[in-house]
Amino acid sequence: MRISKSKFVAGVQCLKRLYLLVHEPELAAQPDAADEAIIEQGRDVGMLARQLFPGGVEVDGSGGLEQAIRTTRELIANREVPAILEGAFEHGDIVVRTDVLQRRRDNRWRLIEVKSTTALRDHHLEDVAIQSRVVSRSGVDLASVCLAHVNRGYVFQGGAIDARRFFRIRNLTRRIARLDPKLTFQLRAELTVLAMPSAPDIPAGSQCTDPVTCEFYDRCNPPRSDDHIGYLPRIHAVAMEELTEMGIVSIHDIPDDFPLNERQRRACIAVQTAEPWYDTAELGKELESMKYPLYFMDFETVNPCVPRFPGMRPYDQLPFQWSVHVQRAPDAAPEHFEFLATDANDPRGEFINSLCAALDESGSIVVYNAGFESSRLSELAAWLPEFSERIERIQRRLFDLLPVVRNNVYHPAFAGSYSLKAVLPALVPDMSYAGMQVADGQSAGLAWESLIRDGLDQAEHDTIRKALLDYCGQDTLALVKVLEKLKLEARGCPQK
Ligand code: SF4
Repeated sequence: MRISKSKFVAGVQCLKRLYLLVHEPELAAQPDAADEAIIEQGRDVGMLARQLFPGGVEVDGSGGLEQAIRTTRELIANREVPAILEGAFEHGDIVVRTDVLQRRRDNRWRLIEVKSTTALRDHHLEDVAIQSRVVSRSGVDLASVCLAHVNRGYVFQGGAIDARRFFRIRNLTRRIARLDPKLTFQLRAELTVLAMPSAPDIPAGSQCTDPVTCEFYDRCNPPRSDDHIGYLPRIHAVAMEELTEMGIVSIHDIPDDFPLNERQRRACIAVQTAEPWYDTAELGKELESMKYPLYFMDFETVNPCVPRFPGMRPYDQLPFQWSVHVQRAPDAAPEHFEFLATDANDPRGEFINSLCAALDESGSIVVYNAGFESSRLSELAAWLPEFSERIERIQRRLFDLLPVVRNNVYHPAFAGSYSLKAVLPALVPDMSYAGMQVADGQSAGLAWESLIRDGLDQAEHDTIRKALLDYCGQDTLALVKVLEKLKLEARGCPQK
């Protein structure tokens, strides 16, 4: 049986994953839009890396593997070819396609694997090592084995991306050589498992999401009950293990003397008594510091690997949308303002200009997780220094509702999470994100990428635009409603 490089790497993560991929692939979850976007991004990065190897010849895979292997051999024999892209190799039971093989002057070779991450990760080593093993055992004289990853420090200057600065190339030759005995052992284990009549009995664990979320996750990890111990806020894996060993899976069964931190103990009591918990005195004190008019603000961003506009680095956040609800006095009806970039031009100037106008000069600006909005504002100030003073004044007015909730509230329906998506339906049951076409930040980013793509017809454009505006508007209206609820609790009159 042949094993491809990706299956070998899947087997390093979990032998059951490998078995299911080979023998029961129909059980795998299909890639969703976010997975597709990551694949697409990897492709873009791969194309960019090719600029580092001018004259490189790509091996066409459309004629099948055998043909690709023959073509690769011919290219290796041809001294005129400086680099081979997507070369195909086979040795023993393993087949690999290599991103780049670069010919050196002495006719030895340098193998380069391209990754769109910003650093070398542990699991890259097996990925590169298996390629190195197969290529060298196919008779290619490898002088070095490298990994090219994205350089997070690269600053785009406009024009074309400078591929030499965009990538960092790490020489892994020694580390890969040390891995060889481990690979032999791993390969034996993989071939043994694949010859078994059924999947190995491996319990779900941290390997299900590390280094990637397994495509069989739902099959091995049945949904948790609402009172599962995993729904205690930030419960540590060691504590989970201890409880599981004691035979405890429900929060209701956690003993009073089991060591939990203050927040987890609160959550535990809230679930056990089915009663939300509020520190009303503290809540009232913290909310008192807000100054009217109140501006409830939220940003949406994307973080492309390949920077699009001058000053940006790989994976910098590019803000494309904001929503602001303004409440000029207690109990006044909120007014709504919003901005959404609707084409592929640089949105940063218009974004910050329109935002400054909407926020005026006084009053608290209420956000949920201020670190995010504040960092985006700092980046905008660095990109557009003419706004920096204005932006600093905005940052000084930020009021973060997240720690207020985290320190003073717990509702059993939070299920261990203080995200607005969990907090809103628990505290304001007539509002939720269920059924919205865009219902979280990640899908907002994907929707925006399709909105600015060429070739969208007007009806599709209008639908996506509306979905984005609805979503971001919902986020800031949610803040208005959550604050209303918190104020009622602080006053000791939860049922207005
Ligand atoms: S979900 Fe976990 S246990 Fe199941 S195959 Fe994947 S990694 Fe293995």
